[in-house]
Amino acid sequence: MEKYVLALDQGTTSSRAILFDRNGGIHGTAQLEFKQYYPHEGWVEHDPMEILRSQKLAITAAMETGEVPAGSIAAIGITNQRETTVVWEKATGRPVYNAIVWQCRRTADICEKLIASGLSDYVTEKTGLLIDAYFSATKIKWILDNVEGAREKAERGELLFGTIDTWLIWWLTGGKVHATDYSNASRTMLFDIDRLEWDEKIMNALGIPASMLPKALPSSGDFGCVAPGIPGLEALAWVPISGVAGDQQAALFGQGCFSKGQAKNTYGTGCFLMMNTGESSMRSRNGLVATVAWGLNGKVEYALEGSVFNGGSVIKWLRDGLGLIKSAPEVNILAESVKDAGGVILVPAFTGLGAPYWDMYARGTMVGITRGTTSAHIARAVLDSIAYQVKDLISAMEDDVGFRLSELRVDGGASVSNVLMQIQSDMLGVAINRPEVVETTALGAAYLAGLYVGYWKDLDDIEANRKVERVFTPAIEEAERKHRYSEWQRAVERSRNWSN
Ligand code: ADP
Repeated sequence: MEKYVLALDQGTTSSRAILFDRNGGIHGTAQLEFKQYYPHEGWVEHDPMEILRSQKLAITAAMETGEVPAGSIAAIGITNQRETTVVWEKATGRPVYNAIVWQCRRTADICEKLIASGLSDYVTEKTGLLIDAYFSATKIKWILDNVEGAREKAERGELLFGTIDTWLIWWLTGGKVHATDYSNASRTMLFDIDRLEWDEKIMNALGIPASMLPKALPSSGDFGCVAPGIPGLEALAWVPISGVAGDQQAALFGQGCFSKGQAKNTYGTGCFLMMNTGESSMRSRNGLVATVAWGLNGKVEYALEGSVFNGGSVIKWLRDGLGLIKSAPEVNILAESVKDAGGVILVPAFTGLGAPYWDMYARGTMVGITRGTTSAHIARAVLDSIAYQVKDLISAMEDDVGFRLSELRVDGGASVSNVLMQIQSDMLGVAINRPEVVETTALGAAYLAGLYVGYWKDLDDIEANRKVERVFTPAIEEAERKHRYSEWQRAVERSRNWSN
């Protein structure tokens, strides 16, 4: 019987299930959206039971579209929205509160207190992160402080914490396994990424009992088996869960960035850049975060990560805010109708600027407008702005690691834009490599799972699967590149410290 690996891709807005074959091809897929809750300004929650339901339905639908019988799933891999926090009762599996989503800002004041208490350097040294509401640790504290009786129960060992991978594993194994992988653990702000264990000093500072925390395991490893008798998932009984990684790390793996220095960028609503930095972790001087990439074959690899807040969302602004295009793909037609932006530079600091500037008071700016400026120039400036922001991050990374990037692998919704990819290659002076299968996140989870059970033999086996769809190479000279980049930096200066 033909066998497949099932990847669960539990994202921020939808739960997906994808069946991969030995060539890394997609054999069946399904996706279900679920509700976002915004109980207050800046707060974001999900219903953990709805996440579970949607994930289960996605699995059964993917199995149906792929027409795969019971017994044909070799392994399950899980990848997930990172940092999102669930706390539930060990005895019943009932969440004590909704999942607090990574985007949620409700714990900003807890973070400020932690910073004021002088913990910043310690946290960065141990976890690789900067103290921020984004990560799980302060979200756990919030639940313990604000849900009636939660702290007492937690102290009696009756509550469990998990990121979404842990939540899914716990349910799939019938409550037998309470575990996470190193890559997800490294986004909690509680995990010592070098010793690969939970850090007691940070746990104590936040009042988080050790009994709540899952066991942290290598990303390709034994996370238990699907329990028999889960309604709707009978066909998966005893299938091993053997690959787990946070979404960005899974994408890095799915892109085949197995060696030090290899990097991928995901062009979605925001952009997520990640570079493999090899077997020792490093700390950034430029405001990037260090994270575990994955644990595999008895080794751990690390990565540097940076994100652009407004990536593809700038194209949406062109559509919904300015009304200059009717659909996202139209930006390409408009932008290609001119040879360049005619001197217009847009700095889309709509919500401030992230790495390497970290200026929350910066605001969007458009400079260089003349009487000759047209909507086509602005469309071009929109694409330029995405590429320039990625260049900023890559320059910061190169400065941290001390060598130059040789190639950038790309995925995500806006990576389909040929004109954007060409601009990116021109700006970076390196080749942009776009694979055929752009479902790199799910693929990465499938690979981690399949490697553990021997479905794929080794990394070479996987690399042989990677088919390049197109490579973009630089078409401008170095002098021109330098000139354009310095103009961008000049424009960035104009946008800074504006709303202060
Ligand atoms: P997310 O996972 O963050 O929701 P996606 O990876 O689905 O994002 O990417 C969505 C983004 O891709 C949108 O912001 C949209 O502007 C952009 N996009 C979609 N199609 C195109 C296209 N043909 N050309 C350029 N950008 C596109």
